[in-house]
Amino acid sequence: MFKLKVHWQIIIALVLGVAAGSALQYFLGAGAAGSRWVLICEFLGKTVFIGLLKMIIVPLIFSSIVTGIAGLSGISGFGRLGIKTLGYYVLSSVLAITIGLSAVNVMKPGLVDGKPNPEVASFIENNSKKFEKKGNAVNDDATGLREETHPLGVVGNLVERMIPVNIFKAASDNGAMLSLIFISLLTAFGLIAIDGPGKEAVVNVVGGVNQLMIKITGWIMRLAPLGVFGLMSSTIAQTGPSFLLAMASYMVTVLMALALHFFVALPLLLIFLGRVNPLRHFRAMRDALLTSFSTASSSATLPVTMRCLQDNAGVSKRTSSFVLPLGATVNMDGTALYECIAVLFVAQVMGASLDFAAQLSVVVLALLTSVGVAGVPSASLVAIVIIIQNVAEDQPWGGGAMAAVGAIYAVDRILDMCRTSVNIFSDSCGAVIIARSEGEKGVLAGDEIDSSSSKAKE
Ligand code: ASP
Repeated sequence: MFKLKVHWQIIIALVLGVAAGSALQYFLGAGAAGSRWVLICEFLGKTVFIGLLKMIIVPLIFSSIVTGIAGLSGISGFGRLGIKTLGYYVLSSVLAITIGLSAVNVMKPGLVDGKPNPEVASFIENNSKKFEKKGNAVNDDATGLREETHPLGVVGNLVERMIPVNIFKAASDNGAMLSLIFISLLTAFGLIAIDGPGKEAVVNVVGGVNQLMIKITGWIMRLAPLGVFGLMSSTIAQTGPSFLLAMASYMVTVLMALALHFFVALPLLLIFLGRVNPLRHFRAMRDALLTSFSTASSSATLPVTMRCLQDNAGVSKRTSSFVLPLGATVNMDGTALYECIAVLFVAQVMGASLDFAAQLSVVVLALLTSVGVAGVPSASLVAIVIIIQNVAEDQPWGGGAMAAVGAIYAVDRILDMCRTSVNIFSDSCGAVIIARSEGEKGVLAGDEIDSSSSKAKE
C-alpha cells in the first residue's frame, strides 16, 4: 500500500471508507450516528486529518500571498496579474451560474407534473422544526457569511467581513479568510513600497515560513488515506437512504450541472485560453481533486492544490501563490452554480414562480455571496438563506423556505464534496491559464494542442 502513489492510496481509502460506512449503517441501523465506531472514524477524518490541514491554512495563505506579490516586479506586475485573475474569476463563475440556471429551469427538480414535488413538500412540513434547527447550526461565523441582512446589502456584508477589527483576531479565525487576504495584500503592497534591510528581513522570514508550510503539507498528506477513510466511512454511516430518494431529481440536476462545468466548460477554457491539454492538467491535479472530494473544504485542500500545481503542473510559485489563495475563497464556481439551483429548487417546491428579474437577482446574489463563502463544508447553506431572504422578501414562500433549506442540508454532504472539487479545479485552471499568458515555459502544454511549445522544448 505504501509503495502505491498517493492518489491510488486515496482512491483505495475512498472505496474502503464507503464499504465500511455502509457496513456500519447496516449493522447499527439508525443509531449509527452516535456509535463508537462512527466516532472513531470521524475523529480520524475530521479531528486529525482536516484539523491538521486547517491548522496550517493561516500561515500558508499569508506567506503565499506576501511572497507571491512581493516577488512581482512592482505594482505594475501585480496590476496585470490582478486584472487577469479577476477576469478569469468573473468569466468562470458566470459560466457556472449560466449552466446552473439553465439546468434548474430545464429539469425543474422541485416539480412533479408541473406541481411542487409532494414528497419533498410533505417531508418539509413534517420536519420543519427539526430542519430549521439544523439550518441554524451551519449559521456560524466559520461559514464566512452572516445570515442577518446588512443595511447596505450583500456588498456591505462582504466589506464588513473584509476589514478586521483586529489583525490578530482575523489571523486566529479560519472563517475570516477575506480579512486574512486583505491583510496579506496590504502587507505585500507595503513591502513593495518600502526599501532597506527591514524589507529584506521581512521578505526572508515570510519566504522561510512559506517553505516550512509546504514541507509540513507534504507530511500531512502522508496521512491522507487514513483521513479519507475516516471521513468517507463516517459520512456514509450517517446518511440515511430514504430521503435521498425524494430528493433524487434535485441531486441529479446539481450533479449534472457540476459535471457539465467540470468536464466541458473548464476544459474548453483550458484549451482555448491556456492552450493546455485538459487531460494532462486533470492528471496533474489528481491528489488535490481527491482531497477536496473527501474533505469538502477548499481551504483545507489549499496546501495540496498548491503542491500539485507547482510540482505536477509546472506553474511558478509566483503565479500559484497569488492566484490560488485568493481563488480558494473568492472563486467558487461550484458553489455559485449550486446556490443558484438550490434557491430556484426551493422556490419550485414552495410553489413560487420567479420571473426573469427575480432570477437575475438570484444570479447576481449567487455571484456576490460565492465570493464571501468560506472554503469549509456546507458553507453555501448560509448564502442560500441570504439569497432567499433577499429575493423572497415580498413573496409568500419566504417563511416556509427556511424549512426547505433544512431539506437541502439533509442531502448536502455528497453535493458539497462534488462542488468543492469543481471549486478547486476552477482555481487550478485559472492559475494555469494565467501562467501560460505570462509566458511561463514550465507549464504542462498539450502536445497535440500546442505543437509550437513542444517543439520549443525539443
Ligand atoms: N464546501 C465548499 C468549499 O469549501 C463551500 C460550499 O459550497 O459550501 O469550497
